[in-house]
Amino acid sequence: MKKAVQRILTLALLLLFASTVLASGAAGLDAEEAMKKLMDGNRRFVSESYDRGDIGPGRRAEISKGQRPFAVIVDCSDSRVVPEFIFDQGLGDLFVIRTAGNIVDDIAIGSVEYAVNHLGVRLVLVLGHDDCGAVKATVAGGKAEGHIDAILQAIRPAVAVARQQPGNLLDNAIVQNVELVVRRLQSAQPVLAQALQTGDLKIVGGVYRLKEGSVDWRLPQPLQQSPR
Ligand SMILES: [Zn+2]
Repeated sequence: MKKAVQRILTLALLLLFASTVLASGAAGLDAEEAMKKLMDGNRRFVSESYDRGDIGPGRRAEISKGQRPFAVIVDCSDSRVVPEFIFDQGLGDLFVIRTAGNIVDDIAIGSVEYAVNHLGVRLVLVLGHDDCGAVKATVAGGKAEGHIDAILQAIRPAVAVARQQPGNLLDNAIVQNVELVVRRLQSAQPVLAQALQTGDLKIVGGVYRLKEGSVDWRLPQPLQQSPR
């Protein structure tokens, strides 16, 4: 009986903690503030006026007590697309999921859910990039060796949509792939879909330009354009 009461009390405390985290948001930032922080960071990156983010011993000591990232980035594993550099952020700022072609499976979606539910993150950005090898390989067609084919399979629906569109097939497929992943996350039940319904969460898309260093904000209804 005593153990049961203890368990209930522990559960109540955990729920209280979780609701406090959710109410305050990660790092105290809501989706709009988090978006602004990413955009400002990208502007600094493009204009070479970096803060370089906080990666010093003081920051390490601070975040050793717990992480409070302000955004989730679902990004391509491509070595040229490094979120902390692109958005000029430091340690503990971004919760990053990287796969070739910035696609998501159940484990990646679970990682996003963890950041939203347990770390209180309010903004998820799916970030594609131009000249993406994974999308290029899918556009080229055929079957890839080993587990690589699973990546191509995930991107194929985006390429199929892009084939119906006018303009450059690869560029369109890259945008479609970002949109597909955004929609997949938006409809992921129960955690993400419900968080979106309450208006606590935003899931947006963008395409990073390798040469320019800028991000074209794609979805949904961009707040503003990135500088060119
Ligand atoms: Zn890529």
